[in-house]
Amino acid sequence: MLQALRAELEQRQAQGLMRQRRLLDSPQAEQITADECQYLSFCSNDYLGLANRPELIAAMQDAAGNSGVGSGASNLITGHHRYHDELEKQLAEFVGMPAAMLFSTGYMANIGVLGALAGRGDAIFADKLNHACLNDGGYYSLADFQRFPHNDVQALEQLLKASTAKHKIIAADAVFSMDGDIAPLPEYLRLCEQYDAYMYIDDAHGFGVLGEHGQGSLNHFGLKSPRIIMMATLGKAAGVAGAFVAGEQVVIDYLIQTAKSYVYSTPAPPALSATLSASLKLIEQGDDLRAHLQHLIATLKHNLHLTKWQLMPSETAVQPLLVGGNDAAVKLSKHLQNQGVLVPAIRPPTVPVNTARLRISLSAAHKTQDVVKLAEMLNQAEKELAA
Ligand SMILES: *Cc1c(COP(=O)(O)O)cnc(C)c1O
Repeated sequence: MLQALRAELEQRQAQGLMRQRRLLDSPQAEQITADECQYLSFCSNDYLGLANRPELIAAMQDAAGNSGVGSGASNLITGHHRYHDELEKQLAEFVGMPAAMLFSTGYMANIGVLGALAGRGDAIFADKLNHACLNDGGYYSLADFQRFPHNDVQALEQLLKASTAKHKIIAADAVFSMDGDIAPLPEYLRLCEQYDAYMYIDDAHGFGVLGEHGQGSLNHFGLKSPRIIMMATLGKAAGVAGAFVAGEQVVIDYLIQTAKSYVYSTPAPPALSATLSASLKLIEQGDDLRAHLQHLIATLKHNLHLTKWQLMPSETAVQPLLVGGNDAAVKLSKHLQNQGVLVPAIRPPTVPVNTARLRISLSAAHKTQDVVKLAEMLNQAEKELAA
């Protein structure tokens, strides 16, 4: 086996597909120290700039003093601390859902929820550009896993119409992580009602950013229904770590009993939940942060003057610049890096072939001049590289 692993790694290296972890020596912020160099970073999903906020650092230190650093046992033994419980109630109230529960990561949430709610005889209908962990949850569930073209409501309807599955679940990212566009959630809810289906919405990139006070994508569309189950991660706009699932009380009660990645796993430290409670307050009071983020998005669009490369249509903090070829995207990313600016190049299989891109991720921590600088660098780079 080791021989085979070595061969595969060598093949990756030869194809230029070997990925390296950058070594960070600074907190996650707009200026980072990576591999011992200083960079202006457009890489993080810390959309509101909360990951390094002094109030939250203090909250974590305080909470660790009160609750220690470890949860010690799984949720159904003695791992469920008051800090976890309080955060669950606050999150449910914030997103306007009857109940919520925590998971240690979004990846675990998607696997746990789909694995628990769907099984043989059921069907999951998934957008082709969904995050990898929604796919993994779908496969793991053993339900009939059907993928429809990106945001294609008609194709989805055809699949629903033809389905004889016992339970039907539409699973989709609300904001697509590599595209920044928003799923047609109102149409999905209409289809759920028409075809007796449910929807599981992954709001990793909408929570904290979209909707009133950052309540997320469902609030952005004003959607409420017992047919909706939502998940959002707490390591992106919330700036900390973890995830939660919210929905009808009976759904949450059921998942607490049956979601294996919940039942058989040690919860994140209670201090993390206390930190997230403080973060949730900052999100709720963060209209100025969201306004600044919108200003940065507009600044980027206004200052880019490109002919070959194109910003993809997105109103969110994820602003991908479509380059096309893998080598061209990597070359552009390196070119920026040499000038002290980090923007990741995203290549297949993460995105479809011939759509390699720079994933520009904006954060309220950026200053206007940071974004102007990036735009000017890209304008100049196109002249030099894409001629
Ligand atoms: C990041 C992400 C996840 C995974 O969440 P983690 O908490 O990082 O494990 C799930 N879904 C989407 C759409 C994501 O972008």
